[in-house]
Amino acid sequence: MKYDVIIVGAGPGGIFSAYELMQSDKNLKVGVFELGAPLAERKCPIDGVKIKSCVRCKTCSIMSGFGGAGAFSDGKYNITNDFGGTLYEHIGKKRAIELMEYVDKINCENGGSVTKLYSTANSEFKTKCLRNDLHLMDAQVRHLGTDINYIVLENIYNKMKDNIDFHFHTAVTSIKKVESGYEVSTDKDETFEAEYCIVSAGRVGSKWMESVCSELNLATKSNRVDLGVRVELQADIFKHITDELYESKIVYRTKQYQDLVRTFCMNPKGAVVNENTNGIVTVNGHSYEDPAMQTNNTNFALLVAKHFTEPFKDSNGYGESIARLSNMLGGGVIVQRFGDLVRGRRTNEKRIQESFLTPTLEATPGDLSLVIPKRILDDIVEMIYALDKIAPGTANDDTLLYGVEVKFYNMEVELDENLESTSKGLFVIGDGSGVTHSLSHASASGVHVARRILETI
Ligand SMILES: Cc1cc2nc3c(=O)[nH]c(=O)nc-3n(C[C@H](O)[C@H](O)[C@H](O)COP(=O)(O)OP(=O)(O)OC[C@H]3O[C@@H](n4cnc5c(N)ncnc54)[C@H](O)[C@@H]3O)c2cc1C
Repeated sequence: MKYDVIIVGAGPGGIFSAYELMQSDKNLKVGVFELGAPLAERKCPIDGVKIKSCVRCKTCSIMSGFGGAGAFSDGKYNITNDFGGTLYEHIGKKRAIELMEYVDKINCENGGSVTKLYSTANSEFKTKCLRNDLHLMDAQVRHLGTDINYIVLENIYNKMKDNIDFHFHTAVTSIKKVESGYEVSTDKDETFEAEYCIVSAGRVGSKWMESVCSELNLATKSNRVDLGVRVELQADIFKHITDELYESKIVYRTKQYQDLVRTFCMNPKGAVVNENTNGIVTVNGHSYEDPAMQTNNTNFALLVAKHFTEPFKDSNGYGESIARLSNMLGGGVIVQRFGDLVRGRRTNEKRIQESFLTPTLEATPGDLSLVIPKRILDDIVEMIYALDKIAPGTANDDTLLYGVEVKFYNMEVELDENLESTSKGLFVIGDGSGVTHSLSHASASGVHVARRILETI
C-alpha cells in the first residue's frame, strides 16, 4: 500500500499534521498509525472501586490512542515560548507563536470556543511574586479542561475519518529508507510506503524512537530529566492565583544550592492521577471545566531539572530508577503530608485520616525521603516555604506531596528548521523529537511540518 504521507502516532503532533494536510489537499493519501485505540475505546480500568490503582495494561489508555498522552489531560494549551519546548529554536519565536495561535483557532472551531483564554500579562500577582524572589513566566493559556478537550478531539476526528486512513491498534515496528521514500513495517506484518514520513511517537514511543534513530543513523543527544512531587492542597489557598491566571509557572532559585525549582501543570479544583510510562507508575494531575466534576483541592507539580554531564548519558534511566524505587516501596505512588516530611517521619493511614485535607488519589502513605535524592527534596521543601509567602497555607502540615513526579525528556533528534531529520523526507515532531514538551508546541510542530510537505509536494 502506498501513501503520500505516513504519520506515526495520533497524539496532538500527528493529529495536527494530518488535519493540516487534509484541510489543504483532500486528495492526499495520508495514513496514520497508532498503537493505541480510537478515542471512544480508550478506557483506563481504574474505577476507584474494584480497581483502585494501575494494573499496567499492555497499552496504556491514558498515554496511547487517538489524542495521545493529551487526550485525558487537563487540556491546557500554553501559548508561549517561555516553556513547553524549544520549537522557537528551530522555527523562530514569531512563527512559533503564530502556529500556537493557529492551533488555538482550530481548537476553538471544534468546540473549544466556550472556554477561557487566560493571560499573565499585567498581572499584579507577577509583582507580588517578584517581591518574594519568585518569577512568573509569561504565557497565555487556553484551558479546555479534560471534558472539552475530549469533545474537541472527537470533532476533529469526525472531520478527518473519511479522508484519512487511521490504523489503530497498530504499532510501527521499523522505518526503512527506500528509493521512493520510506517503508514502514507494523506489528501486523504489513508494510506501507510513502514519500514522506512524519514521526510523532511522543513519550510512549521514546525507546522505539531510539531504535529508529540508530537504524537510520540520526544524530541525537539526551541529558535531562525533571524530578519532583505533585503538591495537593485546599483550592482556597491558591484561589487568588488560579482564578486570575488559571495556570501559573513560577520559578525559584534555591538559596541552599542555587537550583531552579518550578511549578508545573497546575490543576485548580482538580484531581491527582497515576501515570504509567513503560510500566512505571508516576503521578500527574488534571481538572475539569464542568463544575460538577471539580474537587475541593488544587494540585501542581514542583520539579527540579537534573542535567547530566559526561560520562553519564541515560538521564531517563536515572528518573526511571527513582520512580521504580517509589513503586517498590509503595506498590505505586507514595503520598506524604508536608508536616510529616519536615519532621522526618513517614505518613501512615491514620495521619491521612486525621488530616483536614482529603486526598484525590488513593496512594500509599509513606516517606518520600527514602525515594527522592536529598538535594532535590531540600529544593522542594525550600520552594514550598517560598510559595507560602505568596499563597499562605502552602506550607501547612496537611499539604500532601505525591511522589514521584518525573518529567522524562526524549532524546533530542538533530533536526533542521523544517523539523526534517538528516534523512531527507523523514520529519520528527512533538515530544518524540525532544523539541516539544507540551500540547501547544507539539500541535504547532505538526502544522509546521505539514505546511513544509505541502510546499514540496
Ligand atoms: C496526564 C497528562 C496530563 C498532561 N497535561 C498537559 C496539559 O495540560 N498541557 C500540556 O501542554 N501538556 C500536557 N501534557 C503533555 C502533553 O500531553 C504532551 O506534551 C503531548 O501529548 C505531546 O504530543 P505528541 O503528539 O508529541 O505525543 P503523544 O501525545 O505522546 O502521542 C504520541 C502517540 O504515538 C503513539 N505511538 C508511539 N509509538 C508508536 C509506534 N511505534 N507506532 C504507532 N504509534 C505509536 C502513542 O501511542 C501515542 O498515542 C500532559 C500529559 C499527561 C500524560
